[in-house]
Amino acid sequence: GFKCGIVGLPNVGKSTLFNALTKTAAAQAANYPFCTIEPNTGEVAVPDPRMKAIAAVAKSQNIIPTRISFVDIAGLVRGASKGEGLGNQFLANIREVDAIVHVLRCFEDDDITHVEGRIDPVSDAETVETELMLADLESLERRIVQIRKRATGKDKEALTILPMMEKALELLQNGKPVRLLLKGISAEDLAILQGLNLLTSHPVLYVCNVAESDAATGNDHTRAVEKMAKEQGAETVIISAAIEAEVAQLSDEEAKEYLDAMGLEEPGLDRLIRAGYRLLDLITYFTAGPKETRAWTIPRGTKAPQAAGVIHTDFERGFIRAQTIAYNDYVTLGGEVAAKEAGKARDEGKEYVVQDGDVMLFRFNT
Ligand code: GDP
Repeated sequence: GFKCGIVGLPNVGKSTLFNALTKTAAAQAANYPFCTIEPNTGEVAVPDPRMKAIAAVAKSQNIIPTRISFVDIAGLVRGASKGEGLGNQFLANIREVDAIVHVLRCFEDDDITHVEGRIDPVSDAETVETELMLADLESLERRIVQIRKRATGKDKEALTILPMMEKALELLQNGKPVRLLLKGISAEDLAILQGLNLLTSHPVLYVCNVAESDAATGNDHTRAVEKMAKEQGAETVIISAAIEAEVAQLSDEEAKEYLDAMGLEEPGLDRLIRAGYRLLDLITYFTAGPKETRAWTIPRGTKAPQAAGVIHTDFERGFIRAQTIAYNDYVTLGGEVAAKEAGKARDEGKEYVVQDGDVMLFRFNT
């Protein structure tokens, strides 16, 4: 599955947030057979109001959301790249994720020690990023010597990856994260970049953890983070981990009342999960019938046979065609039969690139 790693300095609220994520009712939604929750990895349901609308039209008995994973990656301190704290363990864990959720402390509380002795989230972000860049720089400098040699000897693999390595190295030597290469990157180059297994090539999302009273409005710290994120082209989510921990314990009705009182429209976790989904560049397609309406996750750009393969490998192997109805047509026309009559049920083949919100029915040989 797709994984977001939660990182940040100690005492910024990572565990509080992670526990809220995995305790929330949505994380434990019934009738999902593959819900494994390891100590520091939790699968959460991706909230998507479209499921309810489709289920109403299809008269489905059940709604099964799609899921993504969050991993609580503890142990980052200044000096982690040199093996301080849980340094090596930390670096190994973070290599396994697809995207990074970077939690920043934006709340004042004299009772909770800040490792640097002051609240300054922008400077904290730089501390963490510096550790990640140092680790990448060290690992690339070590590996590139060999690759350059092999490239001189016309080794094919070395010739393929060397240009990307050189580009990444140049960025790191200039104090910049490798993720700057992600913008407009081709699928082939992305595969090469991901193969380099660097820490700063993961896309990043900043989470500002604020006091309860600042949850609806943010504060000076969150505005400073937003400015920094904007310069990087990154997204920011303002959340109060304390509120989320509380909400995760409540029934839906109680939670709504509590959030209303706080001036919030929905749990911050819902915003966080959706932002994580966007960060991973994932989209959702649906299957719908009387038994269930179900959401499925695919990377943007996935073609119909591979999309079918997410349901079952047989669907991909024996793929013939996909009947496809756009979400809006499905809901406004009132379902499959009506969409067919209106000429809005398309018959798509192997080259069709599945679009976000497509309601799909696969035809396949067994
Ligand atoms: P981690 O080290 O980043 O995982 O941080 P924790 O989640 O363990 O939180 C460290 C301490 O800060 C705990 O005592 C939390 O209860 C507290 N804390 C976390 N979030 C908030 C918050 O939004 N407001 C306040 N006042 N305290 C918080």
